[in-house]
Amino acid sequence: MVAKCKTNNQLLKKVAEIYDWLDLQIRQSADTPAQCDACGKCCGFAQFDHRLFVTPPELMYLKANRGDENLKPMPTGLCPYNTGGKCTVYDYRFAGCRIFYCKSDPDLQSALAESTLQKLKSLCTQFHIPYNYADLPTALNTSAPA
Ligand code: SF4
Ligand code: SF4
Repeated sequence: MVAKCKTNNQLLKKVAEIYDWLDLQIRQSADTPAQCDACGKCCGFAQFDHRLFVTPPELMYLKANRGDENLKPMPTGLCPYNTGGKCTVYDYRFAGCRIFYCKSDPDLQSALAESTLQKLKSLCTQFHIPYNYADLPTALNTSAPA
């Protein structure tokens, strides 16, 4: 039990490191999501015609840091963590949320997404977590408690 807990803590630390790395890349980028005004429109995926994909370590990180709220299902095209246009899990939001900026270069975003995905994939291998890359509604609807 103690060993499992320690492994979980190590995993969470590694996810935090990946997000820190990602945030740094974004801050240093010339064409940057740091200019995003956090209007929250792109969190309404259906309306915005936008998709977001997530991996198991990201879901585990959100779940571990959200305490009782844990994972929520997503019955509509709006992310369940968006309330009144604002992200309620901002510090723990997914890599895709950090990378996407509606006005930045899609190629730059793809390159950043690819590098980040490789790091998350490596974590799955290191911690023996089955790798899965699912769109957010599918991931939340299959992971959230009924
Ligand atoms: S986690 Fe936050 S930033 Fe990401 S889609 Fe949901 S509300 Fe938007
Ligand atoms: S990326 Fe664009 S649509 Fe999404 S929150 Fe930022 S400014 Fe709004």
